[in-house]
Amino acid sequence: MEAGKNTELNDNAVNVPCLEPNEKDEKQQNRDDIDERIARIDFHCSGCDMHELVHYFGREPPFALGIQYKEDNYVLRDPFQPPPQGGRPIPEYYISLGSKCSSCLKTVCKGSGCSFFYTATVCVPCGKTMLKDWPVDAQTRFRKQLVVNQSDKEP
Ligand SMILES: [Zn+2]
Ligand SMILES: [Zn+2]
Repeated sequence: MEAGKNTELNDNAVNVPCLEPNEKDEKQQNRDDIDERIARIDFHCSGCDMHELVHYFGREPPFALGIQYKEDNYVLRDPFQPPPQGGRPIPEYYISLGSKCSSCLKTVCKGSGCSFFYTATVCVPCGKTMLKDWPVDAQTRFRKQLVVNQSDKEP
């Protein structure tokens, strides 16, 4: 049956899937060279609402040579300093704005009203609930910080 055959061919032609060229993502590997200079990582403190675009989130900022944080940090290139010249590392050429609470994973800044560091960064609300499990000296430090925060707020 010639007619039937033709229909079959037509159906096949319609059903041929559109082959899109398979673009590989290997181009993305050079990304870091570009991104490093543009602040595009959103940093938003859950405590004080500070909002800033930073250059890097992680433990080893490529522009802070030799620096390795113990936890992931939001790191901003120091906007008040020129770029290092001749490849010489300048230790002060970055600012860590904050990190994530090790308990609830909320982003917090380094401000004393927002985070506390005991073995890892914790936000103040988590610190208040974890406090009782800490050694006395850490509890004392944290309590002092809370007192200072309160007196800061009073005029
Ligand atoms: Zn904050
Ligand atoms: Zn927390």
